[in-house]
Amino acid sequence: MTHPSTEAVRSTVHAYLDVWLRQRDLAAMLRFHASAVSGFGTGADEVAFTPEEVERIVGRDIEQVPEPFDYAIRREEIRLLTDRVALVMLIFDMILDTRGQRVRLNGLRASLVLHGTAGGWRLEHLHGSFPTSIHGEDEAYPVKELEARAEVLERLVRERTHSLEAAQQRLEHLATTDPLTGLNNRMKANEALADEILRAERHATPLSVILLDLDHFKPINDTLGHGHGDSVLTAVGRLITARIRATDRAARWGGEEFLILCPQDGIAATGQLAEDLRRSIEAHDFQIGQPLTASFGVAQLEPGESAESLVDRADRALYAAKHAGRNRVQGA
Ligand code: GH3
Ligand code: MG
Ligand code: MG
Repeated sequence: MTHPSTEAVRSTVHAYLDVWLRQRDLAAMLRFHASAVSGFGTGADEVAFTPEEVERIVGRDIEQVPEPFDYAIRREEIRLLTDRVALVMLIFDMILDTRGQRVRLNGLRASLVLHGTAGGWRLEHLHGSFPTSIHGEDEAYPVKELEARAEVLERLVRERTHSLEAAQQRLEHLATTDPLTGLNNRMKANEALADEILRAERHATPLSVILLDLDHFKPINDTLGHGHGDSVLTAVGRLITARIRATDRAARWGGEEFLILCPQDGIAATGQLAEDLRRSIEAHDFQIGQPLTASFGVAQLEPGESAESLVDRADRALYAAKHAGRNRVQGA
């Protein structure tokens, strides 16, 4: 089956040849053009890069021979280099009745590069040539033309690749990041935790987690407003990021709960980091008229333990820290 885009390219090229050769309609031609079309002429001086140059060259051509050309396509090859970049090669005959004479030009060649846009396929590059004056039936295209065409193709494919990569990066960022704090979101944290557990098992290295929950956070929202609560969460995210190592991973686990993964560390070193964080949160001025504190649960991965069980133990330790009076670190 033919690709639907191939059909769209084909009908675009046929419509373009119609307004160019049969209708000799410059304005209609320009509607098929990208903002800049390169190539164009058959002669050495007939090279266009801007819409104005194209208009001048084609306009002069139509002025000199305003009569319609009839044409018949002998060979047509359409290649989609990406779903939005097409290369079209044509061999066609042209028949012109002018000044009581019939002129036949057989075996003309054209090579077109088209770019798929939201508004349809647009011409980026066109090169037409006469077999008699430029090259013979089976002769290659002039090197200059091939180079110009390759340049256009490369640019289009590169642009397409770039925009795809950028879109993918944006999507990846949206899917893995907590928009408020810029930390990993819970989904990404689960993914990272699964990776780190595999790594810890493979290399027989320790892995620990810290789960922290802000103490009496709800009254901040209730008295100062949700917006102020949000800025406190953002500031806590920054305090955490500033204190963890590059290999540690911090995530927003829930509303005012954060999860930190500490690969290569056992419970003693991780408990130390938690204690360091506890002090820095307590000492920070969050502009809420009083100190803010947090409670911490710390757990180290046991051999063969699942991610759920590890986080569950940290959660129970956190619960114990809350019950023991908050603003403290509890090991599991
Ligand atoms: P505790 O010391 O027992 O943890 O008390 P707490 O008030 O911190 O605990 P609780 O779970 O009752 O309240 C958590 C609050 O966090 C409730 C909720 O409105 C708030 N919260 C959750 N997500 C967000 C958020 O994205 N922004 C803001 N501003 N508040 C949030
Ligand atoms: Mg809380
Ligand atoms: Mg909570």
